[in-house]
Amino acid sequence: MAFIPYSCQSISDEDIAAVVKVLRSEFLTQGLEVPAFEAAFAETHKVAYAVAVCNATAALHIACLGLGVGPGSRVWTSPNSFLASANCALYCGASVDFVDIDPQTRNMCVQALEDKLSEASRSGGLPHVLIPVDFAGLPADLREMRALADQYGFKILEDASHATGASYLGRPVGSAFADATVFSFHAVKIVTTGEGGIITTQNAELANRFRLLRSHGMTRDSSQMGVEPPGAWYYEQIDLGYNYRITDFQAALGTSQLGRLAQMRDLRALKADRYDTLLAGLPLHLPLRLGDRISAWHLYVIEINSEKTQMTRRSVFEAMRSAGIGVNVHYTPIHTQPYYRRLGFRFGQFPAAESYYANAISIPLFPNLSEVDQNHVAIVLGRLLGA
Ligand SMILES: *Cc1c(COP(=O)(O)O)cnc(C)c1O
Repeated sequence: MAFIPYSCQSISDEDIAAVVKVLRSEFLTQGLEVPAFEAAFAETHKVAYAVAVCNATAALHIACLGLGVGPGSRVWTSPNSFLASANCALYCGASVDFVDIDPQTRNMCVQALEDKLSEASRSGGLPHVLIPVDFAGLPADLREMRALADQYGFKILEDASHATGASYLGRPVGSAFADATVFSFHAVKIVTTGEGGIITTQNAELANRFRLLRSHGMTRDSSQMGVEPPGAWYYEQIDLGYNYRITDFQAALGTSQLGRLAQMRDLRALKADRYDTLLAGLPLHLPLRLGDRISAWHLYVIEINSEKTQMTRRSVFEAMRSAGIGVNVHYTPIHTQPYYRRLGFRFGQFPAAESYYANAISIPLFPNLSEVDQNHVAIVLGRLLGA
């Protein structure tokens, strides 16, 4: 049996043709494909504005800047995420802190957030921006977070890198509750452009700021200039930005992929349902289902129930790798990374994220995962965990 990866992109002949068409055209960058991709993404996510960039880490960076994060700002995120969810605040010279997770959803815990906010409001340390993460594709509790944001006066930057096409309370993720939302198009994510990311917002002014920051802080729009342009060559730098642009051939791949978003999401959901059935009865905690939101199923994470089995996460992980199954672990809690410990964070500080991590294994889930391969994953797990 061939090695089964934990994630695998789905590239169709149409995707390839869309990229080749751009490669044969006049513009490889700054042509019409990027705005077309942004329009298609905004349409599928029912949001007013979408600004595409070279990756989601860059998207988080300029989203923070656009929301006013700078030296002296405080940003809070979830410890159960990829490094970029926290690093983006440090890029801006801000400080970062974490809010522990709810062990059921594995997302930022609203109660822990409320407790931390009420303490911070007494000590004068309220956050300027909160970055909740839709872990594994399951939307975080944005309605409750929005109420707290309005009460305490912070902004919400949702890291929906896992959640392209997910929905929450009947609305696509990225269209409601957050001030801005970031999605990733890295090859392992739901929709891919190889590398890529996008920021959505309902706020025209914010979208404009994201566009400026994406491309050196420069504009060719005379309405944004200080003087009447002396000619068609003229541009002005009105802010300090970066080159975080995405290419036209990547955007064409993204647009083509978006055409299959619903189909790919349904395939992921079908396989997640199958895992629920195949793995029922094993000493595992399976992903939580919630009736008011639809997960994008970026990951299917099992947790070894250490009260019911002697097998450890490490022994199961290694046995599965030996059986040709590309398991992975998402995530080592960010605050336990050496770099973050040098900033003063300690083991034991966010116990729910740490105990989740101690038992978590991501098993293969992607649109083209075959039934045979999926059965093999379940059979190996059954053999290891004594069913
Ligand atoms: C993948 C990911 C990112 C970073 O995305 P890139 O496009 O690789 O920069 C950020 N946050 C989370 C939660 C991710 O999974």
